[in-house]
Amino acid sequence: MLDELNDLYQQVILDHSRSPRNFRPLASANRTAQGQNPLCGDNVTLYLEMAGDVIKDISFQGSGCAISKASASILTEALKGRTRAEAKALFARIHELVTTGETAGADLGKLAVFAGVHKFPARVKCAILPWHAAMAAVEGKDQPVSTE
Ligand code: ZN
Repeated sequence: MLDELNDLYQQVILDHSRSPRNFRPLASANRTAQGQNPLCGDNVTLYLEMAGDVIKDISFQGSGCAISKASASILTEALKGRTRAEAKALFARIHELVTTGETAGADLGKLAVFAGVHKFPARVKCAILPWHAAMAAVEGKDQPVSTE
């Protein structure tokens, strides 16, 4: 499937899946959330350190396909330092991007690499899984999240 994404997007996804950023437990975490995508076998645990309304630090662990891992890795970079409201707004745009291939508004930076995923409906869940887990953590929900 990666062959069908354009080269630049493919490179970014492969880079993040092979060398995921912030891939570790977070000792200072005061929120964690787990997510799983049974269809693909993706598992992800998000660790957040919330300082009031701000995501002060964020990391993840887990196993899964290249798309889910790259999505979690890029998510940690994108959400660090964001407020709860900013994180929710970004989630809404990512959800739109991976389900329709486009989203209006400011440049999403690296997150734009997931635009091509909408052409592969089974992979949409892989890309969005870490986001569902991150939103559960931001909201303080401790129930595991599943895409099914
Ligand atoms: Zn997957």
